[in-house]
Amino acid sequence: MKELNTIGRYWRKKYGEKVYKIPISISGFTCPNIDGTVAKGGCTFCENDSFAPNLEKEKKSDFKLHPDNPDNPLLENQLLQLQTQFETTKANLTKKFGAKKFIVYFQSFTNTYAPIETLKALYEKALSFDDVIGLSIGTRTDSITEEILDYLQVLRSFAGTRTNQTKEIWVEYGIQTVYDEILDKINRGHDFANIKEWIFKTKQRGLLVCGHMIFGLPGETQEMMLHSVEESLKLGIDSIKFHPLYVVENTILTKDYKNGTFIPIDEKLYIDTLVKSIKMLPKNVSISRVTAGISDDSLLSPMWCNDKHKQMFNIKQALLKEGLIY
Ligand code: SF4
Repeated sequence: MKELNTIGRYWRKKYGEKVYKIPISISGFTCPNIDGTVAKGGCTFCENDSFAPNLEKEKKSDFKLHPDNPDNPLLENQLLQLQTQFETTKANLTKKFGAKKFIVYFQSFTNTYAPIETLKALYEKALSFDDVIGLSIGTRTDSITEEILDYLQVLRSFAGTRTNQTKEIWVEYGIQTVYDEILDKINRGHDFANIKEWIFKTKQRGLLVCGHMIFGLPGETQEMMLHSVEESLKLGIDSIKFHPLYVVENTILTKDYKNGTFIPIDEKLYIDTLVKSIKMLPKNVSISRVTAGISDDSLLSPMWCNDKHKQMFNIKQALLKEGLIY
């Protein structure tokens, strides 16, 4: 039996204890694929509130950030949101698990799609919190710039902390697939050449990259999914997240699902593709996620995505059959 290099094991080995990721949703952020800069409507599967639960409780604003507009009337409120969300989750994790080390995860929307001064204020505030060892920034490869990457490189050695240890600065990019025709089909708004270019530039700065893959995109065969993983690994990513494509209400994909032109991936094929992909990973690439789902009424299909516990059980069993411990 062999233990897989999960991100949890990677951090435990590096820091001698468990590290907890705290997801943050900041209002005012959007995406060039939603605001019309590169496309309108977003990726066909995107219903952004479905992965921004914290925002639902907070007053949403009509103002949206744009990298070319330096004005940000929301900044004070955003910094407060960051602090409140961080402190609330940290307190819960500390009480429940005795957690001592944290990574602030800017998760929802495109978290580098804002004026640089806003990014600096948010990232530096996040790194100033006690017990924070780094950041993880979810974004798109068409929404990063040389200026932001240079800044993140400097941020790795952020000085306002008690230790001299370099910060973990992760940039999480949606790769999803390496096929341009599929990226077009899901209205991604950029091609694979853009992904290659910006992952390369991110790695050149010594930053850590996590690539997100989706299995079950419209028109993809298993061979294509595995080829996408293989090509993504060639980009030198440090960690990988796998997700099945599921359909939620109020997305463009809903229509295709309802009229029968999109059939979601079944669990057997998903797990088989996942296991084959995991077996391809080099030792240094950690696994950050093996599935995703949503347990509320907005999920239309596939219904196996509504029970995370069962999904994880089935995945772990399939990996065990291959002698792999997740
Ligand atoms: S990149 Fe992310 S936030 Fe933007 S449309 Fe696609 S899924 Fe939604």
